[in-house]
This record gives sequence, structure tokens and C-alpha cells, in this order.
Amino acid sequence: KSKDAGRNTLHFFDPAMQRGLLERNALESDLRDALNQGQLELHFQPQMSINGGIYGAEALVRWHHPQRGMVSPVEFIGLAEETGLILPLGLWVLETACRQLASWATQPELAHLTLAVNVSAKQILQPNFVEQVLHVLASTQPNPHHLKLELTESLLIDNLEDVVGKMKALKLHGVGFSLDDFGTGYSSLSYLSQLPLDQLKIDRSFVMHIDSQDRAMAICAAIISMAHSLKLRVVAEGVETEAQRYILNTVHHCDYIQGYLYSKPLPIAGFETFATQHLGAAKATTRHKNT
Ligand code: C2E
Ligand code: MG
Ligand code: MG
Ligand code: MG
Repeated sequence: KSKDAGRNTLHFFDPAMQRGLLERNALESDLRDALNQGQLELHFQPQMSINGGIYGAEALVRWHHPQRGMVSPVEFIGLAEETGLILPLGLWVLETACRQLASWATQPELAHLTLAVNVSAKQILQPNFVEQVLHVLASTQPNPHHLKLELTESLLIDNLEDVVGKMKALKLHGVGFSLDDFGTGYSSLSYLSQLPLDQLKIDRSFVMHIDSQDRAMAICAAIISMAHSLKLRVVAEGVETEAQRYILNTVHHCDYIQGYLYSKPLPIAGFETFATQHLGAAKATTRHKNT
């Protein structure tokens, strides 16, 4: 009887689910190829300081699928995590990002830029994660103080001690940490006091309503002031309007702004052009003094 059930497994799914399953399998084997065939690329989204000058970027992975065109990370990061492909993919992202950071260090106008890299739970929970990152740093030679690893709250719940230990080990080498999508996870405020973080990123879902809903405004204000009293810098993500920027920067002293207001994530050449055009008042002055 159970043999029959096994043989007929697909009959338990409706046709839409069968399609979903086939689709998923196709995407999985394509993703395997993507890694080997150079179909992945990093784009860079500017992060701006309060004074309007560029502070750095977040590296966001892009997949140029030969038939489907551009596939969004929203569609493949989850799958990569489920299948374990996130490990080689994440390593590729980290290596590529660090090589980029090292290349900026040789260009005077870009040498101050920081780069944020998303790290998934599966990656940081690997026993040799710290060694892997140190190996990448040694082989690509960026300034580790300019590297920020972005973690999400969900991974911290069950593995707090493990994650804290790894963060501390990497911080000794200068690497910084940022808590991504803050406010959307399940973590309690007690985690915040225990994690050796440098930055907190307010999730877009709060930012998008900050200029229209008193509650969203109150939540953002509270997050920023709490973060500052914990000595954390705050990045607002998904800032799309000047009104949002004004409330975050001018009213609540949010440290960094990331969002379509300034720029979408850009391919490397476009990002470098953007960066040299937005060096900011402070940076531009130093530059003129030196040259
Ligand atoms: P995230 O880390 O929270 O990245 C921010 C996402 O918000 C990016 O989407 C970015 O393009 C988008 N965004 C930024 N500003 C705005 C805005 O003003 N308006 C709107 N509507 N969207 C904005 P993207 O590039 O599609 O990435 C989605 C998610 O995929 C990321 O969210 C991150 O969780 C994941 N991801 C991307 N690259 C990587 C990676 O290399 N490794 C891992 N593990 N995850 C990644
Ligand atoms: Mg992120
Ligand atoms: Mg985010
Ligand atoms: Mg987000």
C-alpha cells in the first residue's frame, strides 16, 4: 500500500503544484550551472551619508539566466538556501565583493567606500565560516574595516552563542556587522544587547510609510534612538522620496540612507560613476586639499 502511495505521489498534488515542482527542479539545476558558467553578477546600491555624500554600497547578487533573462534574488536565494547551493554562491559573492573592495582601495576617490555583503544563516552556521572569511580576506586583500556583513534576525534565535562567537572572532580582524531588515524578524530586544553589531538596518516596510503614517514614523524614531543609545549606526533601506529622507536624516538623525531616491542597485561601472559624482562636501574638500 505504501509502495502505491510512493509510486503515485504526484497524484496528491494538483496540476499547479506539479508545475511548481518541475519549475523548481529546473531552476535548481540551472542555478548549479549559473555558478560555473559565470551567469552571476554583483550590483551595487549606494548608501549615502547625512551630508549627501556617498558612504558605501550594498552588494546584491544578480542572475542573468540564458533563457529567462534576469532572475531576481527573491526567486533564487530561498531555493539556494534549501538546496545548500547558498554555500558556494555565498562564497562567490564574498570573494567578488572583497576583490571589488580591494580594487576601490587603489583608487583615491573610491578608497573610503564601505561594502555590505548579505550572509545567509546557512553560511554563518557552517563550522568553518570564520576560517573561510579570513581566507577570502587574505587572498583578496581588502581593508577589512570597510567590509560589513549583513545578517538577518531569523538566524539568530536558535544559535545565538555560536553566531556571537563567530562575530567576535571576525571583529578582531576589523570586519563589521549589520542587522538587516530590522523590525521584521522575531528576535527580542535582548538579542540586540548581546550581539556585537555595528549597524542596524531599518526595514523598508517601516520606511515606506514614514511620511504618511504616524505609527511608522514613531517606530522609525524609536529604532533610531534605541540604536544610537546602543552605539549603533542606522541605515534606512528602501528610501524612495525626499520627504522620507528629510524625516529620517534631518528630523531623526538616521546615519545612512539607501534607496531608489538616490539610486537603484547598479552594475559596477555605473556605480563607480555615481560614486565619483557624489563624493560629498567633506570628501571633496579633502580631495582638493590633497591635490
Ligand atoms: P536586502 O538585503 O534587504 O536588500 C535590499 C533589497 O531592497 C534589494 O532587493 C534592493 O534592490 C531593494 N531596494 C533597495 N532600495 C529600494 C527602494 O527604494 N524601493 C524598493 N522597492 N526596493 C528597494 P534585491 O536586490 O532584489 O534583493 C532582495 C533580497 O535578496 C535582499 O534583501 C537579500 O535578502 C537577498 N540577497 C540579495 N543578494 C544576496 C546575496 O548575495 N546573498 C544573500 N544571502 N542574499 C542576497
Ligand atoms: Mg541586505
Ligand atoms: Mg535589507
Ligand atoms: Mg529587505
